[in-house]
Amino acid sequence: MSSVRTQLVAGNWKMHGSLAVNQTLLQDVLAGLAGCKAAVAVCVPFPYLAQAQTVLAGTPVAWGAQTVSEYAQGAYTGEVAAAMLADFGCRYVLVGHSERRALYGESDAAVAAKFMAAQQAGLIPILCVGETLAEREAAITGEVVTRQLEAVIDAAGVQALARAVVAYEPVWAIGTGKTATPQQAQAVHALIRGRVAAADAAVAEKLQLLYGGSVKPGNAAELFAMPDIDGGLIGGAALVAADFLAICAAAS
Ligand code: PEP
Repeated sequence: MSSVRTQLVAGNWKMHGSLAVNQTLLQDVLAGLAGCKAAVAVCVPFPYLAQAQTVLAGTPVAWGAQTVSEYAQGAYTGEVAAAMLADFGCRYVLVGHSERRALYGESDAAVAAKFMAAQQAGLIPILCVGETLAEREAAITGEVVTRQLEAVIDAAGVQALARAVVAYEPVWAIGTGKTATPQQAQAVHALIRGRVAAADAAVAEKLQLLYGGSVKPGNAAELFAMPDIDGGLIGGAALVAADFLAICAAAS
């Protein structure tokens, strides 16, 4: 937690929800947020963006999507352009979530292109980076995360990070119940901030770096207390209002 940067807690609903379930979840979150000093957002499946806009417009909770096309428009059946997300009032969009990289083959170059497409439409990309268990065991975490980050810096320029968020999500901790220790997470966050600082110290100082990977009410406070952790990207616990609210409280 830093005095320079606002904390951000972003929920990633993944492919969960229904109109009825979302309505209750969003209303419960709004009802419990009073006094929260952290910025809060939810990244919802595409069909529920209209609902998020209707329920959340004018509230402290921002909304966004979970991926975006790298293309502006055209013959890309099934894809959703960044301008379309902007039409639905999105503030954020996740790019390069490990599930997109692993299950849909998104390369570093494709993630960088999505990052730039999001910014071009005025959205704030939340760039997800992180190593697999095999990569951690091979002691190449730093190498992997730096490669993922540099793909974006090389394509978009370091200044682009002034209008972005980076989420460190060790793949082995996502949805597994295994969390990086605060020290493990802090070490990678410090490495990311250091890499950005080498290119531009002012951008690095202001960059919000979220931790994601089995963040729960019971471990959020100790993670968020680390100097380079500026909040969380929350999967499973974002689907339970009481848990999400407890995590938001830990960030404020
Ligand atoms: C995620 O989906 O980005 C995530 C971090 O999930 P979980 O909190 O369930 O590990």
